[in-house]
Amino acid sequence: MHLRTNDMVLILKGKDRGKQGKVQRVFPKDAKVLVDGVNVVKRHTQARGGVRQAGIIQKEMPVRAANVMLVCPSCQKPSRVGSRRLSDGTGARVCRNCNEVIE
Ligand SMILES: [Zn+2]
Repeated sequence: MHLRTNDMVLILKGKDRGKQGKVQRVFPKDAKVLVDGVNVVKRHTQARGGVRQAGIIQKEMPVRAANVMLVCPSCQKPSRVGSRRLSDGTGARVCRNCNEVIE
């Protein structure tokens, strides 16, 4: 998974194509991410014993990680992500555009 929480991403597919948003949650098992303000659906919910509020609730749904692209914080461009091993042995994500390490 090349995405992490708080990454800026560009949506490539679906009705929110072209939008940018911040990753709120990552679901590595499903290869999905939840992005702020993207893929918002309206849920019509019924009140159930006073626990849930009735009415229309807007809710974000996760989108496939393959359909979003990371926006590099250094060059501000949607970028492919590579990986590089740092001198201390840990792996880091690298922008394929500008070759900067992505936090
Ligand atoms: Zn970059």
